Formats: sequence, structure tokens, C-alpha cells
Amino acid sequence: MKALAKTKKEPGIWMIDAPEPEYGHNDLLIKIKITAICGTDVHIYNWDAWSQKTVPVPMITGHEFVGTVIGIGDEVAAIFDPFGNAVHTALSFNTVGEDVLITGAGPIGIMAAAVVKHAGARYVIITDVNDYRLNLARQMGATRAGNIKNDNLEEIMGELHMLEGFDIGMEMSGNPSAQNQLFHCMNNGGRVAMLGIPPGETQVNWNDIIFKGLLLKGIYGREMFETWYKMAAMIRSGLDITRIITHRLPIDEFEKGFEIMASGQSGKVLLYWE
Ligand code: NAD
Ligand code: ZN
Repeated sequence: MKALAKTKKEPGIWMIDAPEPEYGHNDLLIKIKITAICGTDVHIYNWDAWSQKTVPVPMITGHEFVGTVIGIGDEVAAIFDPFGNAVHTALSFNTVGEDVLITGAGPIGIMAAAVVKHAGARYVIITDVNDYRLNLARQMGATRAGNIKNDNLEEIMGELHMLEGFDIGMEMSGNPSAQNQLFHCMNNGGRVAMLGIPPGETQVNWNDIIFKGLLLKGIYGREMFETWYKMAAMIRSGLDITRIITHRLPIDEFEKGFEIMASGQSGKVLLYWE
């Protein structure tokens, strides 16, 4: 079968011919129909410092997918629908009535904006450097989407009469200066979810964290299964996330998919395997 794999310790991802996987008594065998390119896949493609440390080579990559179950292990009792990190992060703090700052309007940041708004946040402000993505974030429910190159976050807060800073912060860019801006704009006692993967070690202004008594939560992957149920309930109650998908390509055009992701002129890029 076809598979996209990291086969060399250098930038790139390659289509290989792989054996069909075996599955164990607690596993499902899933025939993949569609995969999505994650920001993390782009890190792996680029072979940056983080992926050099984390990703074993060779490895078949990818973790966002839709498919059909074609094999069920004999101890499997139930099957759940998976939902992504954005949801998990967005729901890891109660956001009802809260003012939320999200740094980074990649697919994850935009999804988080849509989810926290739907979950009852008061203001959801999102920042990025990319106007295409900021527009998408506005369409998906962000109260304000600011380009940090031209817009002043403190001015936006002033326009909304936010005098004390954000209650909830979600770092979804991995950019060190965005991290510090986020800490700087938090209210006393604010809660911050850290999801964006920085390129390496970064400098943090600890005074913002210490003197405001901020609570930081690192996020990796998701919590099974609570946030999945919550997300299913949100979809049933009208949360529309379809606009986040901006490109659909056949799998043989995966290189183009990665180019589109790297250009930043995209939301989620889907690759079709059949
Ligand atoms: P992405 O790279 O598409 O999005 C990051 C966005 O941040 C980009 O739009 C970029 O323009 C923006 N940005 C850059 N500098 C900025 C700044 N100074 N201020 C505000 N925005 C800035 O990635 P994504 O798929 O949306 O994922 C977001 C991040 O989360 C990535 O770093 C990804 O690797 C990471 N991630 C973490 C986990 C986890 O479990 N912790 C899981 C998936 C992805
Ligand atoms: Zn992902």
C-alpha cells in the first residue's frame, strides 16, 4: 500500500510502498480515505530541531485521518470518533463568559477560536501575521483578529473596554515573541494553555508569569475521551467547522499540499487517498 513516510534525515516527505499493517487484539485496522496535513507534519517535513530530536527515521507520518474500519481486534469493545487537539486545548479550561487570547491563527488556533466562542467565551481575540488566516478566523467566530505587524493588541483591548487583560490564553503559534506577548496581556490569575511548539529553547519573561500568578498548562495530544464527547455535543448544538477546510487534493499531489501549508495561504489541507 501507499504511505507517506519520513525516510531520510533531511527536509522532505516521501511516498513509499509499505506492507499492510498487522493489527492486535485491542486495535482497529482502518482503511484511510482522507488525511489532513497538521502543523506538526510541516515541522516533520522541514526537519527542524524539534523533529530531529523527536521523530525516529524511518517512520510513516500523519495522525489526522478519516477512514473505514476494515478489521476489529477480538477484544475491542467500542469505537469512538476522534477529534483534534484544538478542541482538547480549547476545552481544557472553562471559557464561559471569559475573554480569550489566542496567539497563532493556524488551523489549530482558528478551530480553538470557533470552539471557545461556541462554548460561551465573551471576547475571543486571535493574532497572527497572515491576513488570509486572520480572515478565516473572523469568519469562524473570532471577535477580533489582529495582525501583529500592524495592529496593536492593547488598542484592540481598549476598543473592547477590556481593562484588565485576558482570563484565558492559548499559545498556538510556537513563536517565542507571541508567547511573551501573550503572558504580557494576561490578567492576574489568568490561565494559559501552551500548545505551539517552539523551534528550540526560548526566552520567557518570567516576571509576567510570577507576578500575575498565571497558571500554565502544557498540552500534548488530547485527553481521552472527555473532550471527544464535549466536541460531539458542540457539533450537535450547531458549531460549524467546515470553513476551516480550504484545500482538497489527491494524495499524489501531496507535495503541493505541503507547499500550500508552508505558504500560510490555507486552513486545513486535505489529501484524498481514494
Ligand atoms: P501553523 O504553523 O499552521 O500555525 C501557526 C501560526 O502562528 C501561523 O499561522 C503563523 O503565521 C502564526 N504566527 C507566527 N508568528 C506569530 C506571532 N508572533 N504571533 C501570532 N501568530 C504567529 O500550525 P497549526 O497546525 O495551527 O499548529 C499550531 C502549533 O501547534 C504548531 O506549532 C504545531 O506544531 C503545534 N502543535 C502542537 C500539538 C501539541 O500536541 N502540543 C499538536 C499539534 C500541533
Ligand atoms: Zn495534528
